[in-house]
Amino acid sequence: MIPITVVQCGPEEEALVLQVLRSGMLAQGAMVQQFEQHCCEMTGARHAVAVNNGTTALVAALEAVGLQPGDEVVTSPFTFVATLNAILEAGATARFADIRDTDFNLDPAALPAVIGERTRVVMPVHLYGQAAEMAPIAALAAERGLAIVEDAAQAHGAHYDGRPIGTYGQATFSFYATKNLQSGEGGVITTDDDALADRLRLLRNHGMRARYQYEFPGHNYRLTDLAAAVAIPQFGRLEAIIAARTANAAYYGQHLAALPGVVTPVTLPGRRHAWHQYTLRITAESPVPRDTVLQRLNDAGVGAGVYYPRAVYDYECYRQHPRVIVDGGCPVGERVAAEVISLPVHQHLTEAQREQVVAAVLAAVVPA
Ligand SMILES: *Cc1c(COP(=O)(O)O)cnc(C)c1O
Repeated sequence: MIPITVVQCGPEEEALVLQVLRSGMLAQGAMVQQFEQHCCEMTGARHAVAVNNGTTALVAALEAVGLQPGDEVVTSPFTFVATLNAILEAGATARFADIRDTDFNLDPAALPAVIGERTRVVMPVHLYGQAAEMAPIAALAAERGLAIVEDAAQAHGAHYDGRPIGTYGQATFSFYATKNLQSGEGGVITTDDDALADRLRLLRNHGMRARYQYEFPGHNYRLTDLAAAVAIPQFGRLEAIIAARTANAAYYGQHLAALPGVVTPVTLPGRRHAWHQYTLRITAESPVPRDTVLQRLNDAGVGAGVYYPRAVYDYECYRQHPRVIVDGGCPVGERVAAEVISLPVHQHLTEAQREQVVAAVLAAVVPA
């Protein structure tokens, strides 16, 4: 099987982890600080606050803007469930604006109808590693006085308008094992805002300013030096990781773009795609249904997957939830969930493997 993700740590990670083990300082310390500096360099942000995962990064970012009960966060319906769960954990109410099927991200044209009296935050998701259409989203947020929290869990090193994402308000990145940069579990919030950064640093450590001086009820969201040591060496490889993924994506584009009923992903102008996932759409024009294509790929030894099979709100546990508001639904998001298939695009893919992937797709979309 050609896996959709490969988690591989090298000698640099081993050496740094060993250094931490021997230092006697395993919890948050100098390594976490170094990790935060790398996150500042990656995004160009003034501040980076490391936390223990990408979900708590979202919760902290939402809490840092001072949400009140009843306040609403507008986000994408087509995302990993952590986006929605973080909104609920922060005590807010979730609403959804539909996406575009070009970049799988929030459609700026769909936002105004969903923004209301109680909206406090707009939370775009940079899905698969491509930035959402941030210019009109940021302009609308400024006009309506809304905070921005970018869910950049999948988008380390992605660019919009020629510069790195991560500074439109607050941005959160995940360092979960399968993300483009990883520390097993880990997360970070980046921002240019001094006051928000200060609040985030307290929030992750029980609201504590100085020893036993609590300013508000906080959490233990601290990252460990052990985890930071796993991630640190990878920052130096980020450009190579993105370049390898981009080359794999270009190869798939060349060989798969002309198939009937298959839409290959595009990089929109001004963007750098981080290619966390390479995601096809198998449309209604395809002679073979999506689920059959997926089954055939898996049978051919290609670890293709569906990210994500339904709109995030479309589960029993959210249907009666008083703080999950779906209104008329999101027709594009719901349709796309039934069309997507992601192919292995990671940096460890060999040429023989990507040839095998292409051959498997070409065979899978032909009627039996
Ligand atoms: C992975 C992911 C998260 C959550 O990150 P964790 O580190 O797993 O908590 C949030 N949003 C999106 C879009 C993700 O892909």
